[in-house]
Amino acid sequence: MAEGGEGVKVAEVKDLTRIERIGAHSHIRGLGLDDALEARKVSQGMVGQVNARKAAGVILSMIREGAIAGRAVLLAGQPGTGKTAIAMGMAKALGEETPFAMMAGSEIFSMEMSKTEALTQAFRKAIGVRIKEETEIIEGEVVEIEIDRPVTSGAAPKMGKLTLKTTEMETVYDLGQKMIESLNKEKVSAGDVVTIDKASGRITKLGRSFARSRDYDAMGAQTKFVQCPEGELQKRKEVVHVVTLHEIDVINSRTQGFLALFAGDTGEIRPEVREQIDAKVAEWREEGKAEIVPGVLFIDEVHMLDIECFSFLNRALENDMAPVLVVATNRGITKIRGTNYKSPHGIPIDLLDRLLIVTTVPYTERELRLILDIRCEEEDVEMTEDAKDLLCKIGHETSLRYSIHLITAAALVAHKRKSAEVEVEDISRVYALFLDVQRSTQFMVEYQEQFMFNEVPEECGDEM
Ligand code: ATP
Repeated sequence: MAEGGEGVKVAEVKDLTRIERIGAHSHIRGLGLDDALEARKVSQGMVGQVNARKAAGVILSMIREGAIAGRAVLLAGQPGTGKTAIAMGMAKALGEETPFAMMAGSEIFSMEMSKTEALTQAFRKAIGVRIKEETEIIEGEVVEIEIDRPVTSGAAPKMGKLTLKTTEMETVYDLGQKMIESLNKEKVSAGDVVTIDKASGRITKLGRSFARSRDYDAMGAQTKFVQCPEGELQKRKEVVHVVTLHEIDVINSRTQGFLALFAGDTGEIRPEVREQIDAKVAEWREEGKAEIVPGVLFIDEVHMLDIECFSFLNRALENDMAPVLVVATNRGITKIRGTNYKSPHGIPIDLLDRLLIVTTVPYTERELRLILDIRCEEEDVEMTEDAKDLLCKIGHETSLRYSIHLITAAALVAHKRKSAEVEVEDISRVYALFLDVQRSTQFMVEYQEQFMFNEVPEECGDEM
């Protein structure tokens, strides 16, 4: 019975690991540039859009040098011309160490927090702090404690150096014990490993067989547990963590705690918490313990932001820790949300003036075909050349997105008729089943009388 039960469990686990979701941009693995920042025609899942990719590459190298702050880039172009794909390519090319935060303009209106708080959080998600931890001390090692500021307790040395070794702990135990108690009120016993923060004089007790620094824990760094069998000597090593300012904020905000990071629902963070953290980070930077890693904040559908948000962006970009801001829009000249004024892309002119503008252009039929090939491969769909030709033609006449969506649908239809390959008939079938925007609009025009609220006035339609 028990055996049978275990067998079932194993099977379940196996099944779960097989579930992988294929996202709209999962085929994008980078910007596909060569060392000279020239865009390869097809590379890393990217096709065409050569100028925009090249421009994105230049911005990437500026980010990598780390010297720029407060730059902003606008990706402007028609729907489905790869603006989001290029932003994703940038994120992939930057690697894991550089923070990349992504949001849609409309998101800030659906959060249970003020618009500026939502934007502040987004900015701080895109600013990394690289913390160098050199104080990890492992059991069995010689520990040198340097007291470089006066200690107030009676018998403890006021200043100076103290060398402790776990095996010698007993001999220096009294001294160490007193020092530690006076500083931290923390009990330390022989064999314990301790570390001291030179700047603050704070002594942290580390476990007997697990060494971990609480200081860094509190600041949100992921602490590496180093297991060390009793008595065995291990070398001290430098551990580098990159955490975002937002993560540090959340962990240090009394009302939230780090679990909120997993839930994603972090609520508002009090300004005092941020001020304290900024001061602490500035201190670390001065001491050479930490450096700022400016990342990228990508705001898609930026025209959905309103005038207050735009003015916030203008101000936020002036901060010397500001990340690189990449925004994207598919709008032409339209109203700035929250005003009656029109401007290009619905973005106020003063902000537009700060932006480096990169445009994306519609794809040729050949490029469409290459993107569809890549998507078929990504979605693991076998398709005949004729079917691909037809799909490409459909994409050219409707939209790239619509033709991408038909791939999985056609594969399901092919599967239904027990064919391993998608053929022309499957594409025709799903083309008839699912309408593209043009045909759907045509349908509306013909049958609008039968729909609810069909008398929507003209101007409202214009705003959409
Ligand atoms: P919108 O203005 O509607 O937001 P967009 O310009 O952001 O559109 P994307 O979402 O990037 O367009 O592109 C639509 C689909 O086509 C996505 O699945 C994207 O990954 C893919 N795609 C677009 N351009 C390319 C490209 N140059 N190479 C490979 N895939 C691409």
